[in-house]
Amino acid sequence: PSRFEGITMAPPDPILGVSEAFKADTNELKLNLGVGAYRTEELQPYVLNVVKKAENLMLERGDNKEYLPIEGLAAFNKATAELLFGAGHPVIKEQKVATIQGLSGTGSLRLAAALIERYFPGAKVLISAPTWGNHKNIFNDAKVPWSEYRYYDPKTIGLDFEGMIEDIKEAPEGSFILLHGCAHNPTGIDPTPEQWVKIADVIQEKNHIPFFDVAYQGFASGSLDEDAASVRLFAERGMEFFVAQSYSKNLGLYAERIGAINVVCSSADAATRVKSQLKRIARPMYSNPPVHGARIVANVVGDATMFGEWKAEMEMMAGRIKTVRQSLYDSLVSKDKSGKDWSFILKQIGMFSFTGLNKAQSDNMTNKWHVYMTKDGRISLAGLSMAKCEYLADAIIDSYH
Ligand code: PMP
Repeated sequence: PSRFEGITMAPPDPILGVSEAFKADTNELKLNLGVGAYRTEELQPYVLNVVKKAENLMLERGDNKEYLPIEGLAAFNKATAELLFGAGHPVIKEQKVATIQGLSGTGSLRLAAALIERYFPGAKVLISAPTWGNHKNIFNDAKVPWSEYRYYDPKTIGLDFEGMIEDIKEAPEGSFILLHGCAHNPTGIDPTPEQWVKIADVIQEKNHIPFFDVAYQGFASGSLDEDAASVRLFAERGMEFFVAQSYSKNLGLYAERIGAINVVCSSADAATRVKSQLKRIARPMYSNPPVHGARIVANVVGDATMFGEWKAEMEMMAGRIKTVRQSLYDSLVSKDKSGKDWSFILKQIGMFSFTGLNKAQSDNMTNKWHVYMTKDGRISLAGLSMAKCEYLADAIIDSYH
């Protein structure tokens, strides 16, 4: 008998498992709206032109493949903090931010979770209900207790703002509050600027520690600055907080695993100590991060021409998603005779739309219509083309009724 008899079969991942099921489907109408990855109008993966340009430059220069330091590429760490807070922001000038390169958003969240487990024993992380599925896994694996705060209101398919504020107020003082910087995943529902102010108020009153997950900067509105407004509001107030960043979506560097964890501290001295401990956590886990994606980001951001080209491509991607969002809405309104109000689709922002379809209805989407999506009713609009909007509208209307 095998020594591994005691190891049972793990369930498939609810998000990545959708892509596997999609691959196995032979129907030609099939549509993969599961994973959040940008596709062209032809539904093909897209490598940004500016990324190819930076890679060619790197090849010409003959950059070497030596190990990076544990904290990653210095030019990347500088660029990533500046993109987040704005170059010349006091927290940067006063060296109050501990930034280390992470293995994309996921790895950066995981480092922060390990720091919380080590230095804030017993502290709880509050996550939105619902949230990106991997958040729970990350905190579970790091042995950090978590609970949920109300976020989504199924009645309005909008934000349960009162519930959110109440739950943040009721959490034990000094809890970590996980917030999506922009383009909330899976709902696509973000607080308004006025609501962000109130969220910051209660967090400050209760001495909580905000923990931002920023996976879509520039990808939601098309503007890097606009999408960082929530984070910058908290920085203006002189609060201490965490920010995990990812370049998977906005630079299309999914498989390069490039991101960062930033800890904003109230003094440069605290930031130095925090950074030293983040490095200590990273060393036995993966020793040091990969260089390729870090160099791409540093090159693109560090060159005015390429930076401009990136912004233009990001606007183009965000624009295509907005266009299919509008087109899906138009198709639903013109085809649906039930009088249902579909305007919630237009109010949502970013890559996803939360359709309000329940699990049985989502199953109907897949089993009858070959539309692959997560069972929480989320569809990725980045995987939708103009040509497929009418078909998707038919599938949604059929599944709803
Ligand atoms: N947070 C959120 C909310 C996300 O949607 C994602 C990507 N799906 C991530 C973090 C991290 O992704 P990655 O590890 O590819 O950067």
